[in-house]
Amino acid sequence: MAHPRIHAKSSVKKWGGKEEDYQAIHDWFDETKSWLGHSNHRLYRHHSEGIFQAEKIFGVSFVNSDNKTVYTRYVGEQHVKEDCNNYIPSAKEWIIHMTNKNRPEWMQKTLKIED
Ligand SMILES: [Zn+2]
Repeated sequence: MAHPRIHAKSSVKKWGGKEEDYQAIHDWFDETKSWLGHSNHRLYRHHSEGIFQAEKIFGVSFVNSDNKTVYTRYVGEQHVKEDCNNYIPSAKEWIIHMTNKNRPEWMQKTLKIED
């Protein structure tokens, strides 16, 4: 997983509706790529605190184009899990492991080991 559009397609598979229903949330998670042009950008929002922050920004839930209620937190969880090897780290875990040579599997996959 990488591009926010791919995450939006995945959301449509899970909850129906259109990619546009989810795009703003996925764009927000990946917006930090403009801060740091490397997969390390994920440390800023790809964690449990980031998911709750998204909920504050986009609301607890929204109604998609299929008139179905979708929970923002679930969309955030989907995004982070797709990027972090099916795992949701905390912000603290990112910080602890960022300088650790023996990184956990979720981080190895998401950073593709670039030291
Ligand atoms: Zn992402």
